[in-house]
Amino acid sequence: MHETRTIPDEIQRRYTKGRLATIVTPLIIGAPSFGLIWINGHNGSRPWLWVGIAGFVGSVIFAVISQEWRNRHFKCPNCERAIPVRYANVPQYTKKCRIEFVCSHCKITWDTGLFT
Ligand SMILES: [Zn+2]
Repeated sequence: MHETRTIPDEIQRRYTKGRLATIVTPLIIGAPSFGLIWINGHNGSRPWLWVGIAGFVGSVIFAVISQEWRNRHFKCPNCERAIPVRYANVPQYTKKCRIEFVCSHCKITWDTGLFT
């Protein structure tokens, strides 16, 4: 039997913190970088324009990689195996998906209680 369980609070907190870092860190780097592009885009200094572009692109890449990494390294709270993420449709929301992790070994779907 495949059952659905809610992930323990502690793991949910850690996952939420990771998600927050994924969003906040690129903002901290990305926003000033975008500012540099904005200021130096037309007649400003070239080196600073490139620093801005590098920072902006870097922050986007960081966000994508850290998101991927977190989803690929989620460990089943029951057996400690790395288990894959699944985005489950929720009937009452059309644009949101519930974030779940499925352990095929324990036959448990871990509901993070979080949405995309
Ligand atoms: Zn498991």
